[in-house]
Amino acid sequence: MQALVYNGARDVVVTEVPDARIERPTDVLVRITTTGVCGSDLHMYEGRTTMEPGRVLGHENLGEVVEIGSAVDRIRVGDMVCLPFNVACGHCKNCEAGLTGFCLTLNPGTAGAAYGFAGMGPFNGGQAELLRVPYGDFNCLRLPGDAKEKENDYVMLSDIFPTGWHCTELAGLRPGESAVVYGAGPVGLMCAYSALIKGASKVMVVDRHPDRLRLAEQIGAIPIDDAKGSPVEQILGLTAGEGADRGCECVGYQAHDPQGREHPNMTMNNLVRSVRPTGGIGVIGVFLPQDPGAPDDSTRRGEIPFDMGLFWFKGLKMGTGQANVKAYNRRLRNLIHTGRATPSFVISHELPLEQAPEGYRHFDARDEGWTKVVLHPDG
Ligand code: NAD
Ligand code: ZN
Repeated sequence: MQALVYNGARDVVVTEVPDARIERPTDVLVRITTTGVCGSDLHMYEGRTTMEPGRVLGHENLGEVVEIGSAVDRIRVGDMVCLPFNVACGHCKNCEAGLTGFCLTLNPGTAGAAYGFAGMGPFNGGQAELLRVPYGDFNCLRLPGDAKEKENDYVMLSDIFPTGWHCTELAGLRPGESAVVYGAGPVGLMCAYSALIKGASKVMVVDRHPDRLRLAEQIGAIPIDDAKGSPVEQILGLTAGEGADRGCECVGYQAHDPQGREHPNMTMNNLVRSVRPTGGIGVIGVFLPQDPGAPDDSTRRGEIPFDMGLFWFKGLKMGTGQANVKAYNRRLRNLIHTGRATPSFVISHELPLEQAPEGYRHFDARDEGWTKVVLHPDG
Protein backbone atom coordinates (compact mmCIF):
# COMPACT_ATOMS: atom_id res chain seq x y z
CA MET A 1 0.00 0.00 0.00
CA GLN A 2 1.03 3.65 -0.36
CA ALA A 3 1.81 5.44 2.92
CA LEU A 4 3.42 8.59 4.28
CA VAL A 5 6.54 7.47 6.11
CA TYR A 6 8.83 9.31 8.54
CA ASN A 7 12.45 9.27 7.30
CA GLY A 8 14.07 11.86 9.57
CA ALA A 9 13.78 15.51 10.57
CA ARG A 10 11.60 17.39 8.04
CA ASP A 11 11.86 14.40 5.73
CA VAL A 12 8.65 12.46 5.03
CA VAL A 13 7.96 10.49 1.84
CA VAL A 14 5.05 8.70 0.25
CA THR A 15 6.22 5.20 -0.54
CA GLU A 16 5.11 1.57 -0.90
CA VAL A 17 5.03 -0.34 2.43
CA PRO A 18 3.58 -3.76 3.36
CA ASP A 19 -0.23 -3.65 3.56
CA ALA A 20 -1.69 -3.11 7.02
CA ARG A 21 -3.53 -6.35 7.92
CA ILE A 22 -5.53 -8.11 10.61
CA GLU A 23 -2.97 -9.35 13.17
CA ARG A 24 -5.21 -10.28 16.10
CA PRO A 25 -8.81 -11.57 16.25
CA THR A 26 -9.97 -8.26 17.78
CA ASP A 27 -8.53 -6.13 14.92
CA VAL A 28 -10.50 -4.22 12.31
CA LEU A 29 -9.00 -3.18 8.96
CA VAL A 30 -10.04 0.23 7.59
CA ARG A 31 -9.56 1.65 4.09
CA ILE A 32 -8.74 5.28 4.85
CA THR A 33 -10.63 7.91 2.88
CA THR A 34 -9.78 11.04 4.93
CA THR A 35 -6.88 11.63 7.33
CA GLY A 36 -5.65 14.87 8.90
CA VAL A 37 -2.21 16.38 9.38
CA CYS A 38 -2.00 17.62 12.97
CA GLY A 39 0.17 19.99 14.99
CA SER A 40 1.05 16.84 16.95
CA ASP A 41 2.59 15.28 13.82
CA LEU A 42 5.01 18.19 13.83
CA HIS A 43 6.66 16.93 17.05
CA MET A 44 7.90 13.99 15.01
CA TYR A 45 8.29 15.94 11.74
CA GLU A 46 10.57 18.52 13.31
CA GLY A 47 12.83 15.73 14.58
CA ARG A 48 12.46 16.31 18.31
CA THR A 49 11.29 12.82 19.18
CA THR A 50 12.92 9.43 19.06
CA MET A 51 10.58 8.22 16.29
CA GLU A 52 12.23 5.50 14.26
CA PRO A 53 12.49 5.97 10.47
CA GLY A 54 9.99 3.87 8.54
CA ARG A 55 6.95 4.46 10.78
CA VAL A 56 3.73 5.52 9.07
CA LEU A 57 2.40 8.81 10.52
CA GLY A 58 -1.22 9.89 10.99
CA HIS A 59 -3.63 9.71 13.94
CA GLU A 60 -6.68 11.60 12.57
CA ASN A 61 -8.35 8.85 10.59
CA LEU A 62 -11.69 8.05 8.95
CA GLY A 63 -12.65 5.39 6.44
CA GLU A 64 -14.58 2.27 5.52
CA VAL A 65 -14.24 -1.08 7.28
CA VAL A 66 -12.97 -3.65 4.76
CA GLU A 67 -12.19 -6.64 7.02
CA ILE A 68 -12.86 -7.72 10.62
CA GLY A 69 -11.06 -10.18 12.90
CA SER A 70 -12.87 -13.34 14.07
CA ALA A 71 -13.58 -11.89 17.55
CA VAL A 72 -15.13 -8.63 16.32
CA ASP A 73 -18.92 -8.61 16.68
CA ARG A 74 -20.13 -5.01 16.81
CA ILE A 75 -18.41 -3.46 13.79
CA ARG A 76 -19.29 -4.75 10.29
CA VAL A 77 -17.58 -4.68 6.89
CA GLY A 78 -18.91 -1.63 5.03
CA ASP A 79 -19.35 0.55 8.15
CA MET A 80 -18.00 4.08 7.85
CA VAL A 81 -15.99 4.73 11.00
CA CYS A 82 -13.94 7.46 12.61
CA LEU A 83 -11.01 6.35 14.78
CA PRO A 84 -10.25 8.25 18.00
CA PHE A 85 -6.51 8.96 17.99
CA ASN A 86 -6.14 7.14 21.33
CA VAL A 87 -5.69 3.40 20.88
CA ALA A 88 -7.22 1.84 24.00
CA CYS A 89 -7.95 -1.67 25.29
CA GLY A 90 -11.37 -0.77 26.74
CA HIS A 91 -10.89 -2.98 29.81
CA CYS A 92 -8.20 -1.50 32.08
CA LYS A 93 -8.87 0.69 35.11
CA ASN A 94 -8.44 3.92 33.13
CA CYS A 95 -10.41 2.81 30.06
CA GLU A 96 -13.32 1.69 32.24
CA ALA A 97 -13.35 5.17 33.80
CA GLY A 98 -13.44 6.80 30.35
CA LEU A 99 -9.80 7.87 30.50
CA THR A 100 -8.88 6.24 27.19
CA GLY A 101 -6.00 8.66 26.63
CA PHE A 102 -4.19 6.82 29.41
CA CYS A 103 -4.80 3.14 28.63
CA LEU A 104 -2.76 1.10 31.10
CA THR A 105 -2.65 -2.05 28.96
CA LEU A 106 -1.11 -0.60 25.81
CA ASN A 107 1.35 1.94 27.23
CA PRO A 108 1.56 1.60 31.02
CA GLY A 109 3.24 4.30 33.07
CA THR A 110 2.88 7.16 30.61
CA ALA A 111 0.53 8.71 28.10
CA GLY A 112 -1.52 5.88 26.63
CA ALA A 113 -1.24 4.81 23.00
CA ALA A 114 -1.89 6.45 19.62
CA TYR A 115 -1.53 5.71 15.92
CA GLY A 116 1.75 6.85 14.33
CA PHE A 117 3.15 8.54 17.41
CA ALA A 118 6.61 8.45 19.04
CA GLY A 119 6.55 7.11 22.59
CA MET A 120 2.90 6.06 22.39
CA GLY A 121 3.04 2.43 21.38
CA PRO A 122 4.09 0.57 18.22
CA PHE A 123 1.03 1.34 16.07
CA ASN A 124 1.35 2.64 12.54
CA GLY A 125 -0.62 5.69 11.46
CA GLY A 126 -3.36 6.16 8.91
CA GLN A 127 -1.79 8.58 6.41
CA ALA A 128 -1.96 5.51 4.21
CA GLU A 129 -4.37 3.45 2.16
CA LEU A 130 -5.09 1.00 5.01
CA LEU A 131 -5.05 1.12 8.81
CA ARG A 132 -5.05 -1.69 11.37
CA VAL A 133 -7.35 -0.77 14.29
CA PRO A 134 -6.61 -2.81 17.46
CA TYR A 135 -9.59 -3.68 19.70
CA GLY A 136 -11.80 -2.62 16.81
CA ASP A 137 -15.13 -3.01 18.61
CA PHE A 138 -13.96 -0.45 21.14
CA ASN A 139 -11.86 1.88 18.98
CA CYS A 140 -14.21 2.46 16.03
CA LEU A 141 -16.86 5.17 16.18
CA ARG A 142 -19.60 4.21 13.72
CA LEU A 143 -20.86 7.11 11.59
CA PRO A 144 -24.42 7.76 10.38
CA GLY A 145 -25.73 7.71 6.82
CA ASP A 146 -24.41 11.17 5.96
CA ALA A 147 -20.80 10.02 6.64
CA LYS A 148 -19.68 10.36 3.04
CA GLU A 149 -21.05 13.86 2.47
CA LYS A 150 -19.76 15.14 5.84
CA GLU A 151 -16.40 13.34 5.91
CA ASN A 152 -14.46 16.56 6.48
CA ASP A 153 -16.57 17.32 9.55
CA TYR A 154 -16.60 13.79 10.97
CA VAL A 155 -12.81 13.37 10.59
CA MET A 156 -12.43 16.15 13.18
CA LEU A 157 -13.91 13.68 15.73
CA SER A 158 -10.68 11.66 15.61
CA ASP A 159 -8.81 14.36 17.49
CA ILE A 160 -9.10 18.12 17.34
CA PHE A 161 -12.82 18.69 17.99
CA PRO A 162 -12.92 16.47 21.11
CA THR A 163 -9.45 17.72 22.07
CA GLY A 164 -10.57 21.35 21.95
CA TRP A 165 -13.72 20.38 23.88
CA HIS A 166 -11.63 18.48 26.45
CA CYS A 167 -9.50 21.57 27.04
CA THR A 168 -12.60 23.55 28.03
CA GLU A 169 -13.53 20.69 30.42
CA LEU A 170 -10.03 20.68 31.93
CA ALA A 171 -10.37 24.41 32.49
CA GLY A 172 -13.78 23.86 34.13
CA LEU A 173 -15.72 26.13 31.74
CA ARG A 174 -19.39 26.65 32.56
CA PRO A 175 -22.07 28.47 30.48
CA GLY A 176 -21.88 32.23 30.88
CA GLU A 177 -18.19 32.30 31.81
CA SER A 178 -15.43 33.98 29.82
CA ALA A 179 -12.47 32.10 28.37
CA VAL A 180 -9.14 32.90 26.81
CA VAL A 181 -7.57 30.46 24.37
CA TYR A 182 -3.85 30.71 23.62
CA GLY A 183 -3.16 29.51 20.08
CA ALA A 184 -5.38 29.83 17.01
CA GLY A 185 -4.06 26.71 15.33
CA PRO A 186 -6.61 24.02 14.47
CA VAL A 187 -6.76 22.88 18.11
CA GLY A 188 -7.16 26.38 19.54
CA LEU A 189 -9.88 27.15 16.98
CA MET A 190 -11.73 23.95 17.96
CA CYS A 191 -11.34 24.88 21.61
CA ALA A 192 -12.82 28.35 21.02
CA TYR A 193 -15.59 26.79 18.91
CA SER A 194 -16.36 24.32 21.73
CA ALA A 195 -16.43 27.09 24.33
CA LEU A 196 -18.92 29.03 22.20
CA ILE A 197 -21.12 25.95 21.68
CA LYS A 198 -21.03 25.38 25.46
CA GLY A 199 -22.36 28.90 26.06
CA ALA A 200 -19.30 30.91 27.06
CA SER A 201 -20.17 34.61 27.33
CA LYS A 202 -16.91 35.81 25.79
CA VAL A 203 -14.11 33.88 24.11
CA MET A 204 -10.77 35.58 23.39
CA VAL A 205 -8.20 33.88 21.13
CA VAL A 206 -4.51 34.84 21.13
CA ASP A 207 -2.17 34.31 18.16
CA ARG A 208 -0.24 36.42 15.66
CA HIS A 209 -1.18 34.88 12.34
CA PRO A 210 -3.84 37.10 10.71
CA ASP A 211 -5.44 34.25 8.74
CA ARG A 212 -5.93 32.18 11.91
CA LEU A 213 -7.21 35.17 13.91
CA ARG A 214 -9.70 35.89 11.12
CA LEU A 215 -11.13 32.37 11.50
CA ALA A 216 -11.43 32.93 15.26
CA GLU A 217 -13.38 36.11 14.59
CA GLN A 218 -15.59 34.37 12.03
CA ILE A 219 -16.85 31.88 14.62
CA GLY A 220 -17.66 34.64 17.10
CA ALA A 221 -14.50 34.89 19.23
CA ILE A 222 -12.50 38.06 19.93
CA PRO A 223 -9.12 37.90 18.15
CA ILE A 224 -6.09 39.08 20.15
CA ASP A 225 -2.93 39.75 18.15
CA ASP A 226 0.07 39.32 20.44
CA ALA A 227 2.29 41.03 17.86
CA LYS A 228 0.40 44.26 18.71
CA GLY A 229 1.19 44.21 22.43
CA SER A 230 1.02 42.10 25.57
CA PRO A 231 -1.85 39.59 25.31
CA VAL A 232 -2.18 39.66 29.10
CA GLU A 233 -2.82 43.43 29.07
CA GLN A 234 -5.31 43.04 26.22
CA ILE A 235 -7.21 40.30 28.11
CA LEU A 236 -7.24 42.26 31.39
CA GLY A 237 -8.57 45.22 29.39
CA LEU A 238 -11.43 43.09 28.09
CA THR A 239 -12.32 41.65 31.52
CA ALA A 240 -12.45 44.77 33.72
CA GLY A 241 -8.96 43.99 35.01
CA GLU A 242 -10.05 40.66 36.57
CA GLY A 243 -8.83 38.19 33.98
CA ALA A 244 -10.81 35.52 32.14
CA ASP A 245 -12.69 32.91 34.17
CA ARG A 246 -11.01 30.09 32.24
CA GLY A 247 -7.78 29.75 30.26
CA CYS A 248 -6.92 27.20 27.59
CA GLU A 249 -3.40 26.34 26.42
CA CYS A 250 -3.52 25.14 22.79
CA VAL A 251 0.08 25.80 21.76
CA GLY A 252 2.50 23.49 23.60
CA TYR A 253 6.23 23.73 24.07
CA GLN A 254 6.73 25.43 20.70
CA ALA A 255 5.29 28.73 21.95
CA HIS A 256 6.90 31.91 20.65
CA ASP A 257 7.87 34.98 22.68
CA PRO A 258 7.21 38.65 21.71
CA GLN A 259 10.17 38.56 19.31
CA GLY A 260 8.77 35.47 17.63
CA ARG A 261 11.48 33.19 19.06
CA GLU A 262 10.63 29.79 20.52
CA HIS A 263 9.96 30.22 24.23
CA PRO A 264 8.33 27.19 25.89
CA ASN A 265 6.99 28.76 29.08
CA MET A 266 5.49 31.80 27.36
CA THR A 267 1.88 30.60 27.24
CA MET A 268 1.92 28.99 30.69
CA ASN A 269 3.03 32.17 32.41
CA ASN A 270 0.70 34.29 30.28
CA LEU A 271 -2.20 32.05 31.27
CA VAL A 272 -1.44 32.34 34.96
CA ARG A 273 -1.43 36.13 34.53
CA SER A 274 -4.59 36.36 32.41
CA VAL A 275 -6.94 34.06 34.36
CA ARG A 276 -8.87 35.49 37.32
CA PRO A 277 -7.97 34.37 40.87
CA THR A 278 -9.44 30.87 41.56
CA GLY A 279 -10.12 30.34 37.84
CA GLY A 280 -9.17 27.24 35.90
CA ILE A 281 -6.56 26.38 33.26
CA GLY A 282 -6.68 23.53 30.74
CA VAL A 283 -3.44 22.53 29.02
CA ILE A 284 -3.76 20.36 25.92
CA GLY A 285 -0.79 21.80 24.03
CA VAL A 286 1.87 19.10 24.18
CA PHE A 287 4.84 19.32 26.53
CA LEU A 288 7.13 16.35 25.91
CA PRO A 289 8.71 14.63 28.90
CA GLN A 290 12.42 14.66 29.50
CA ASP A 291 14.10 12.00 27.43
CA PRO A 292 17.85 11.57 27.71
CA GLY A 293 17.86 9.85 24.30
CA ALA A 294 16.10 12.71 22.51
CA PRO A 295 17.94 14.72 19.91
CA ASP A 296 17.36 18.12 21.56
CA ASP A 297 18.01 19.87 24.87
CA SER A 298 15.80 18.27 27.51
CA THR A 299 15.09 21.55 29.29
CA ARG A 300 13.01 22.53 26.24
CA ARG A 301 11.02 19.34 26.57
CA GLY A 302 10.39 18.63 30.24
CA GLU A 303 11.55 21.07 32.87
CA ILE A 304 10.27 24.41 31.67
CA PRO A 305 10.32 27.42 34.03
CA PHE A 306 6.82 28.23 35.32
CA ASP A 307 5.63 30.82 37.89
CA MET A 308 4.39 28.33 40.50
CA GLY A 309 4.27 31.15 43.06
CA LEU A 310 1.70 33.21 41.16
CA PHE A 311 -0.24 30.06 40.23
CA TRP A 312 -0.49 29.20 43.95
CA PHE A 313 -1.12 32.78 45.08
CA LYS A 314 -4.09 33.09 42.74
CA GLY A 315 -5.53 29.74 43.87
CA LEU A 316 -5.72 28.46 40.31
CA LYS A 317 -6.58 24.95 39.18
CA MET A 318 -5.04 23.18 36.21
CA GLY A 319 -5.81 20.08 34.15
CA THR A 320 -3.43 18.57 31.61
CA GLY A 321 -2.80 15.68 29.25
CA GLN A 322 -3.98 13.84 26.17
CA ALA A 323 -7.67 14.18 25.37
CA ASN A 324 -9.84 11.16 26.12
CA VAL A 325 -11.49 11.36 22.71
CA LYS A 326 -13.98 8.55 23.25
CA ALA A 327 -15.55 10.33 26.21
CA TYR A 328 -16.89 13.03 23.88
CA ASN A 329 -17.06 11.81 20.34
CA ARG A 330 -20.51 10.23 20.24
CA ARG A 331 -22.05 13.48 21.49
CA LEU A 332 -19.95 15.63 19.16
CA ARG A 333 -20.85 13.28 16.28
CA ASN A 334 -24.51 13.99 17.02
CA LEU A 335 -23.88 17.75 16.90
CA ILE A 336 -22.38 17.32 13.42
CA HIS A 337 -25.16 14.99 12.26
CA THR A 338 -27.89 17.45 13.26
CA GLY A 339 -26.04 20.42 11.75
CA ARG A 340 -25.29 22.08 15.09
CA ALA A 341 -21.53 21.88 14.51
CA THR A 342 -19.45 22.14 11.32
CA PRO A 343 -15.84 21.79 12.50
CA SER A 344 -14.59 21.46 8.90
CA PHE A 345 -14.41 25.26 8.83
CA VAL A 346 -10.74 24.89 9.92
CA ILE A 347 -9.75 22.96 6.77
CA SER A 348 -7.78 25.04 4.29
CA HIS A 349 -6.42 22.30 2.02
CA GLU A 350 -7.57 18.88 0.80
CA LEU A 351 -4.75 16.95 -0.90
CA PRO A 352 -4.22 13.49 -2.36
CA LEU A 353 -1.78 11.34 -0.34
CA GLU A 354 1.03 11.91 -2.90
CA GLN A 355 1.05 15.60 -2.00
CA ALA A 356 1.30 14.99 1.76
CA PRO A 357 4.99 16.10 1.98
CA GLU A 358 4.02 19.46 0.48
CA GLY A 359 1.16 19.76 2.99
CA TYR A 360 3.55 19.04 5.87
CA ARG A 361 6.03 21.65 4.62
CA HIS A 362 3.47 24.46 4.37
CA PHE A 363 1.64 23.58 7.60
CA ASP A 364 4.92 23.33 9.53
CA ALA A 365 6.01 26.74 8.22
CA ARG A 366 2.58 28.17 9.25
CA ASP A 367 2.41 29.60 5.74
CA GLU A 368 -0.41 32.10 5.27
CA GLY A 369 -3.65 30.27 4.63
CA TRP A 370 -2.41 26.74 5.53
CA THR A 371 -4.57 26.28 8.64
CA LYS A 372 -5.41 22.59 8.38
CA VAL A 373 -4.57 19.94 5.79
CA VAL A 374 -6.58 16.77 5.21
CA LEU A 375 -5.41 14.01 2.89
CA HIS A 376 -7.58 11.71 0.80
CA PRO A 377 -5.62 8.49 0.16
CA ASP A 378 -8.46 7.25 -2.08
CA GLY A 379 -7.76 10.09 -4.55
P1 NAD B 1 -0.31 24.58 15.51
O1 NAD B 1 1.15 24.52 15.76
O2 NAD B 1 -0.82 24.68 14.12
O3 NAD B 1 -0.95 25.81 16.32
C1 NAD B 1 -0.32 26.44 17.37
C2 NAD B 1 -0.63 27.94 17.25
O4 NAD B 1 -0.12 28.58 18.42
C3 NAD B 1 0.04 28.62 16.06
O5 NAD B 1 -0.93 29.28 15.27
C4 NAD B 1 1.04 29.60 16.70
O6 NAD B 1 1.20 30.81 15.97
C5 NAD B 1 0.38 29.86 18.06
N1 NAD B 1 1.31 30.33 19.10
C6 NAD B 1 2.65 30.09 19.22
N2 NAD B 1 3.13 30.73 20.30
C7 NAD B 1 2.10 31.38 20.88
C8 NAD B 1 2.00 32.21 22.02
N3 NAD B 1 3.05 32.49 22.80
N4 NAD B 1 0.78 32.72 22.31
C9 NAD B 1 -0.32 32.44 21.55
N5 NAD B 1 -0.26 31.66 20.44
C10 NAD B 1 0.93 31.13 20.12
O7 NAD B 1 -0.86 23.27 16.21
P2 NAD B 1 -2.29 22.63 16.53
O8 NAD B 1 -2.55 21.55 15.54
O9 NAD B 1 -3.33 23.67 16.71
O10 NAD B 1 -1.94 21.94 17.92
C11 NAD B 1 -1.66 22.74 19.06
C12 NAD B 1 -1.08 21.89 20.18
O11 NAD B 1 -2.06 20.94 20.62
C13 NAD B 1 0.15 21.07 19.77
O12 NAD B 1 1.08 21.05 20.84
C14 NAD B 1 -0.45 19.69 19.58
O13 NAD B 1 0.51 18.67 19.72
C15 NAD B 1 -1.44 19.67 20.71
N6 NAD B 1 -2.45 18.61 20.66
C16 NAD B 1 -2.75 17.98 21.84
C17 NAD B 1 -3.69 16.99 21.88
C18 NAD B 1 -4.04 16.34 23.19
O14 NAD B 1 -4.75 15.35 23.20
N7 NAD B 1 -3.60 16.87 24.32
C19 NAD B 1 -4.33 16.59 20.70
C20 NAD B 1 -4.02 17.25 19.51
C21 NAD B 1 -3.08 18.27 19.51
ZN1 ZN C 1 -4.00 15.34 15.97
